[in-house]
Amino acid sequence: MLTKNLQNKLGWIELITGCMFAGKTEEFIKRLRRHSYAKRNVVAFKPIIDDRYSIDKISSHSGSQFESYPVKDSLQMVEKIKELTKIKKIDVLGIDEIQFFDEGIVNLVQEYADKGIIVIVNGLDKDFKCEPFKNVDKLLVQAEYVDKLSAICHNCGSNASRTQRIVNGKPAAANEPVILVSGEEQYEARCRHCYIKPK
Ligand SMILES: [Zn+2]
Repeated sequence: MLTKNLQNKLGWIELITGCMFAGKTEEFIKRLRRHSYAKRNVVAFKPIIDDRYSIDKISSHSGSQFESYPVKDSLQMVEKIKELTKIKKIDVLGIDEIQFFDEGIVNLVQEYADKGIIVIVNGLDKDFKCEPFKNVDKLLVQAEYVDKLSAICHNCGSNASRTQRIVNGKPAAANEPVILVSGEEQYEARCRHCYIKPK
């Protein structure tokens, strides 16, 4: 599917998206690794959502990992890329959890792809209220390659495209904050019919 153009020039955007438990991170790591096997210079970033978790790896639920630089925003990512480019040209840029970055990241991703870098981004398409997540909404339009992965509904076993947020065993209300990294909440993948719209 991913073939070079007639000018033999590399550089494009690949977006991996969908709900939680769809295997997005697994797919993301797999793609980065394929380029590493081919001796391409792969550099990956992820946002620091919570300072307690500023570990330098992207990890999937099933345990596969890929080294990454945790950064607080797109400006810090640019600085790091400048620094790394002085040592070696970057061939492939991976960005995890792109929905948690500031909106400046969308134009940056475009610029890097224009410069010949293969940019592979991973992110949730919508939050638990089923509202589009920032950055992913725009990248759905701008990326050359979009793969929307589905999960299995935790309730009925059908294909799931939505993320249900569960707090204290019940679907969370709409006014609860979107990002809450406390560990006291849970998420479930749900199909259209089992998903309960938060009120
Ligand atoms: Zn279902």
